[in-house]
Amino acid sequence: DVRTEIIAVGSELLLGQIVNSNAQFLSQQFAQLGMGVYYHTVVGDNSTRLEHAIKIAQNRSNVIVFTGGLGPTKDDLTKETIATMLGKKLVFDYEALASIEQYFTKTKRKMSENNKKQALVLEDAVILKNDHGMAPGMGIKVDDIIYILLPGPPSEMRPMFQNYCRGYLQQTLGLQEKIISRVLRYFGIGESQLETDIEDLINEQTNPTIAPLAAEGEVTLRLTAKHIDEAVANEMLDELESKINQRVGEFFYGYNDTTLISELSKQLSNKKRTVAAAESLTGGMFSEYITAIDGASNIFKGSLITYTNEMKVNILRVSKQTLSEHGAVSEQCAIEMAEQVRDIVGSDIGISFTGAAGPKPHEGQPVGTVYIGVAVKGKETSTYKLHLSGTRQGIRIKTVKYGCHYIVK
Ligand code: ATP
Ligand code: MG
Repeated sequence: DVRTEIIAVGSELLLGQIVNSNAQFLSQQFAQLGMGVYYHTVVGDNSTRLEHAIKIAQNRSNVIVFTGGLGPTKDDLTKETIATMLGKKLVFDYEALASIEQYFTKTKRKMSENNKKQALVLEDAVILKNDHGMAPGMGIKVDDIIYILLPGPPSEMRPMFQNYCRGYLQQTLGLQEKIISRVLRYFGIGESQLETDIEDLINEQTNPTIAPLAAEGEVTLRLTAKHIDEAVANEMLDELESKINQRVGEFFYGYNDTTLISELSKQLSNKKRTVAAAESLTGGMFSEYITAIDGASNIFKGSLITYTNEMKVNILRVSKQTLSEHGAVSEQCAIEMAEQVRDIVGSDIGISFTGAAGPKPHEGQPVGTVYIGVAVKGKETSTYKLHLSGTRQGIRIKTVKYGCHYIVK
């Protein structure tokens, strides 16, 4: 198990001149990495007391993280003290030395020996680069204890932690990142519309990522988050999902491998409701989809396939007047078909499908014109007009999917 202790070095902390915000920041980072933090220690710029604090830490912690005291002045003695205690020499890190020399040449100032001292590091340590200052940080493992040395100024310490120290810890402690994925499924919205609606979220993605995909009239978004802690990865996905669905939630219908028809069936069985269908252009396809689901008998009563106008009149009792005035591909016909099938079969919900599947227009209606009626007991019947594109088969499949979508709505 990981027992982490943070030792902040600096007399100004003990004098109350500054707040130990480094410990706060680091503790939050360690929590995210799943590392237990058990002690925060603060010690002044005094090597005897620092040595004492380190000895205590060595007895109770296996990751000891220091901040402060890596600078050029006399009171900066963190690495000198640790070097003595661990029996390690201090050696020059030539990359750091070069960048310090470069800084003094550029600013035309004279470099003192003290400044060179900032490039001294513990021998055998892994160097953590300082992109915002001169003194590099260090990581070293001795006798099963990991020592991390970070600079005091938060502007140097935080990016060093994010860019170099986190990776070092993950590797040294064998902390594995977990990759969690979640697929969000949408229906009734085109791929390009959905992508436009969430364009900024897609553009700013790094972790989690968003991968859109369109298939069979549906759009899916695969969200993927990486984190050491699975619970945190899931929270990241929850947050992104809610941002996305604030915008396009009305089209969202389910997760991962679910289908419109299985969501419909789940919803009907939860509400203990039954459905019956009057099918024209779909020719039984809705019935085929719904009976493919386990437990369909609880929610599906049956359907009447009335393909010709005679069948619509004789079996479904659609009025002749409706057919002669509006035609079979009409809102009025969809309403009567849905209400009649509901009443004849005795279900809670009646759904109807009538339209022109192509390849030729039907009764003057262009290919892809479809009406769906949804008749719920005790409610006014709803109708939906669609202009679908695609092959005859494609139009019929989309019609069934829209039917499921409208009942769920
Ligand atoms: P420098 O090269 O600037 O001397 P250093 O690594 O030697 O860096 P210190 O001299 O201990 O670090 O501290 C430098 C400054 O960093 C402090 O004056 C303070 O502003 C800030 N600082 C140090 N420790 C902390 C801390 N624990 N929390 C917040 N800020 C801190
Ligand atoms: Mg200093």
